[in-house]
Amino acid sequence: MEKVIIIGTGCAGWTAAIYTGRANLAPLVLAGDQLGGQLTTTTEVENYPGFPQGIMGPELMMHMQEQATKFGARVEYKKVSSVEKNGSTFSVTCGEDRYEAETVIIATGADPRHLGLDGEEKLIGHGLTSCATCDGAFYRDVPVAVIGGGDSACEEATFLTKFASKVYLIHRRDELRASKIMADRALANEKIEPVWDSQVTEYLTDDDGEMRAVKVLDLKTNDETEIELKCVFVAIGHVPNAQFLDGLVETDENGYIIQKPSCTKTNVEGLFAAGDVADHVYRQAITAAGDGCRAALEAERYLADNE
Ligand code: NAP
Repeated sequence: MEKVIIIGTGCAGWTAAIYTGRANLAPLVLAGDQLGGQLTTTTEVENYPGFPQGIMGPELMMHMQEQATKFGARVEYKKVSSVEKNGSTFSVTCGEDRYEAETVIIATGADPRHLGLDGEEKLIGHGLTSCATCDGAFYRDVPVAVIGGGDSACEEATFLTKFASKVYLIHRRDELRASKIMADRALANEKIEPVWDSQVTEYLTDDDGEMRAVKVLDLKTNDETEIELKCVFVAIGHVPNAQFLDGLVETDENGYIIQKPSCTKTNVEGLFAAGDVADHVYRQAITAAGDGCRAALEAERYLADNE
């Protein structure tokens, strides 16, 4: 019987592992097929406190793992297929293997949706991203584009006008889905140029493999044009990785796990949720790490109360 199983190896998962490790709970971290975390697919991280010169995303994740294992966290590269509650404990199944635990921390994150175009994976970190807060400052005085028409797209486009010379807001319809206040703010910004009824059909790169332009199809006229730019920010939604829980825990209409107010507890006793799997608002490495810390402390208190 494990005291704590942590599912997921992003900032939330590793921080939960560091804290539960230091509390002598010997957490078992289930990492899936490969180490996770959105930072493993980014380049430089400039906004994580403590690194004034910035740090490469994968390096930061390696430091977190090293710190967690130093305090006794054990890592298994197994993908969780289901979690069940049996009385007061949990069964966590990974294919043929089964683990029992008194508490479980879900830190499986959310994957940004992408368009599914050729070469997409290679371009991430080279002019294709889904986080304006993380990468916007790298694109000063150059044109960029945001794809999407929701609150995220409008918020990111408005934020990017602080840096970019111009922000194309490419949306597949002629009306934004975003709330009126955010849509109005974006459309009133002189640096934002909406590209209505349009779908990006191709990412075009330069000789160094960096983003150089996008091909855009006008869905009304069928005309195809090219827009020169340096970076594309995709804001067409996220998919929280909570499907494997198969209804065990309460989620909102978009599939994000619902945390109880001001904590990481869920509607299932002993089951905690941390990071982007429960957060569609902030989605930052540091907020995920903070959530991982809270989940660890709450799991520790839960174990003490139930001893
Ligand atoms: P969203 O509201 O689901 O909007 C996604 C946008 O992407 C939509 O405009 C959609 O187009 C477009 N889209 C989806 N698939 C596409 C595809 N394959 N190709 C091109 N476009 C595609 O997602 P979100 O903006 O990330 O917001 C998610 C939730 O977080 C919302 O509840 C939102 O209110 C909330 N949020 C709040 C704030 C805030 O309050 N500060 C900030 C960000 C997000 P259609 O419109 O045509 O469907």
